[in-house]
Amino acid sequence: MILHLETPLIYSHALSDPLGKQIWLKMDALQPSGSFKIRGIGHLCQHHAQQGKKRFIISSGGNAGIAVAYAGRRLTIPTVVVVPESTSEHARRLIQREKAELHVVGKNWQEAHEYALTLVQEDDALIHPFDDPLLWEGHASLIAEVAQMGVRPDAVLLAVGGGGLLSGVAQGLREQGWDKTTIIAVETEGTASLGESVRQRQHITLDEVSGVATSLGAPRVCDQAYAISQSHPTTCIQVSDAQAVSACLRFLTDHRVLVEPACGAALSTLYLDHEALAPYKNILVVVCGGNTMTLEQLVQWRATAQI
Ligand SMILES: *Cc1c(COP(=O)(O)O)cnc(C)c1O
Repeated sequence: MILHLETPLIYSHALSDPLGKQIWLKMDALQPSGSFKIRGIGHLCQHHAQQGKKRFIISSGGNAGIAVAYAGRRLTIPTVVVVPESTSEHARRLIQREKAELHVVGKNWQEAHEYALTLVQEDDALIHPFDDPLLWEGHASLIAEVAQMGVRPDAVLLAVGGGGLLSGVAQGLREQGWDKTTIIAVETEGTASLGESVRQRQHITLDEVSGVATSLGAPRVCDQAYAISQSHPTTCIQVSDAQAVSACLRFLTDHRVLVEPACGAALSTLYLDHEALAPYKNILVVVCGGNTMTLEQLVQWRATAQI
């Protein structure tokens, strides 16, 4: 059983024409779990199911938690999702809608995660949201689908949180022999764990993360993502929260799909005609997800300029 969908690859006239480039959108916001994460998590959960694991456990209030809950439901394996108190009502509802057992524990992710660890028993699989080779293997399917459509980008534009997506995309590029295709890695200013590492030329951990792009809020990227930034052509860009939110609203108008600020961050570089994109003519954009966002929230952020 394959738990993710082959998503549409859309040539965007709205984005291409003003830039004089060819912009291709890989629409992973349309995955059944609402984000690309089901590619890797579906692959990983299936592996655990085949190994005889009887329960999935994850600590994530975001797209990873929702993806594991979805995978557990499809595979009829009970799933426990532990989230901190800061997780929005909207995200809690999405997890419960997938019939997972929801535990709300702790003030932040670290506390929720420590509690999740105490639940793990012998036949349980603890799922990591971004640091697992099987996860990257699953994410790599995104590039294989693009290749199958006969599109060959000279750059891939994506958002970076813990670096699982970047690691999977890099693996997919390698599998196609596309080693010269640049990865343009976008973070918000409050979540720039990869960008800061690249700037300081060492793998650092941020003291804190902040801002509206909660899906990007890992204070440290996985070792694999940092290693890729040193071995594969990679350009890091940081944008503001306001730019990310504004891009979400413009993308909704242009393509009628609601994405969250994590995804808006990547898209904003196109709307800004960012100078780092200048060398590239044929850009693949990973439209990574929109689960955790509501239109009301986006409009409110813009109206009250809370960002
Ligand atoms: C998880 C996530 C990201 C970041 O992915 P990483 O693998 O953590 O780098 C970006 N966008 C969305 C919508 C996500 O759910």
